[in-house]
Amino acid sequence: MAGDKRFARRPSRAVHVGPVPIGGTHPVSIQSMTTTHTRDLRETLAQIRRLAAAGCDLVRVAVPSIPDADALAELVRSSPVPLIADIHFTTSLALKALEAGVAKVRLNPGNIDDPDGLRRVLARAAELGRPIRFGVNSGSVRGARLSSRLLRGRSRFTLSEAQRSRMGPSPSAAAGARLVRRPACGPRACAPGASDSSDLARLMVDVLMEWVRQAETEGFRDLVLSAKASDVPTTLQAYRLLAEACDLPLHLGITAAGPMDEARTRSAIVLGTLLSEGIGDTVRVSLTGSPVNEVLMAQEILAELGLRPRLGIRILSCPTCGRCEVDLIGLVEALKARTRDVLAPLTVAVMGCVVNGPGEAVEADVGIAAGKGHGILFREGKPLRKVPEKDLLDVLLEEIHTLAESRSS
Ligand code: SF4
Repeated sequence: MAGDKRFARRPSRAVHVGPVPIGGTHPVSIQSMTTTHTRDLRETLAQIRRLAAAGCDLVRVAVPSIPDADALAELVRSSPVPLIADIHFTTSLALKALEAGVAKVRLNPGNIDDPDGLRRVLARAAELGRPIRFGVNSGSVRGARLSSRLLRGRSRFTLSEAQRSRMGPSPSAAAGARLVRRPACGPRACAPGASDSSDLARLMVDVLMEWVRQAETEGFRDLVLSAKASDVPTTLQAYRLLAEACDLPLHLGITAAGPMDEARTRSAIVLGTLLSEGIGDTVRVSLTGSPVNEVLMAQEILAELGLRPRLGIRILSCPTCGRCEVDLIGLVEALKARTRDVLAPLTVAVMGCVVNGPGEAVEADVGIAAGKGHGILFREGKPLRKVPEKDLLDVLLEEIHTLAESRSS
């Protein structure tokens, strides 16, 4: 992976998830999560392998029960990438996961109310040299038993005075009881109105920083944090607060991001905004669908930001307008479908006319600018020849394959 050159990164501590570093000056890594029942070894391993082949650096698996925990040792042995155990409610499952050899554990402070169990997990993780992610999300943190022994009603994390005055009073400063009484939040009530969004962001950060304090009291420092809401403003606010409150590496994502189209938009805004501010050390795009698409989407976002080399074709194409005289939309769709297996990082321009076409083609490795019933083929900025419309796709594909071959040799 190339080093991150374009945006100044927020300085953060590095932790190591097996051989994959997170934080410090290390490249932003990509994570995903399996959708199988973890105890189904065959299906889970097949999905882990598909994720790894797509470029996923770390894979998380759900561990909701003892049979799932029992499957971990075999999965760890066979997985091509480090595995992370996703634990809610039950700290004993985290201990089993650590014994099974997972490279990292994710605990959800929003649904674990077991200080002794937490202490045991931290102690064992420290002995084994494995990091832990404390990951809250808006859904679980709202319903959390915040009057619990872990959150005693005072915010302890260190914000600047300016930041405190921007955010207004801390909800937890008013007392844990107030948080407990907050009604459960449905999608409408969770709409990102300014004060609700700020309160929720702050609540997530309060809970996380209390857990960080507990962990540091136990001498445990190999932490990663995440604070995912289901809307963009709250998520951005929570991560910005976290970034100021500590130097721990941050795992970025937005929760319940929806199916492909919605997830793409929300994830691109959250990851794009935060990473361009230097915030974020590892990312997970979540979507309802194949997790392989999460990895491809994450790669696309990182590549567009210049934070990761591109794998495959990047198409620059115009939206078309009344000047276009060829079926450019059909041409672009066919081009995309027929270049899925091209891994060379090539930029291909497909422009509808000569107004912008030659200019855009200059920025591309190969491209066409269409005219009436034909197109001009460009390669590395130079016009090569005029091509009839019916041959445009084939000629473009031939150029792409030739260029891809020359780049790989
Ligand atoms: Fe219209 Fe030409 Fe611009 Fe495409 S490149 S949008 S056809 S002016």
